[in-house]
Amino acid sequence: MPSKRKIGARTKLRDHFLANLGKIMGSEELRTVAGGITEWARRVRELRNEEGFQILTNNDRSDLKPGQYLLENPKPKPAFERAVSKETRAYVLDRNGYTCQMCGAVAGEPHPFDQNRKTRLHMGHIVDKSMGGADEPSNIRAICSVCNEGAANLTLDRPSARKLKIQVRRASGADQLELLDWLVTKYPKQARKLAKD
Ligand SMILES: [Zn+2]
Repeated sequence: MPSKRKIGARTKLRDHFLANLGKIMGSEELRTVAGGITEWARRVRELRNEEGFQILTNNDRSDLKPGQYLLENPKPKPAFERAVSKETRAYVLDRNGYTCQMCGAVAGEPHPFDQNRKTRLHMGHIVDKSMGGADEPSNIRAICSVCNEGAANLTLDRPSARKLKIQVRRASGADQLELLDWLVTKYPKQARKLAKD
């Protein structure tokens, strides 16, 4: 006997996203899945904002066209992150220079490990909750989605100066100068001292 209970559009959309991980979907498809209702886009926003599903759009990934949606990671954002206030989030992002504290990716720029992906920063615990870490700004840091998903775990070791030099030598002159510019901006005092010597 088929159930008579009416399944909500949000549930249908959630099931559809979870059954199609990694598949790019367009508005027409999602509208159909939602039963043709006009509020399908609002239901998708609820999945994102209320349930924490990391449904990606053109704002997150430059290879997605406007009106395209993609869910890659079935795991919703932890409840704590959804509860972080706008003020705390802004404070942590500012303190961390809008930079992932694990891999150094900068918010809004293409991710160093995946150029098609714009870096999106999340709030992550410094000391994990399971280890007694608190939901306070002092225990929260900016982490990009790639690190958040654990994809960058293998590259977490800080590179040594020797390894960095090998990489820098292989880069183009323009990239080397861009790096120099960045270092001079970051270490103005030391740069002035070196210039005098
Ligand atoms: Zn990262």
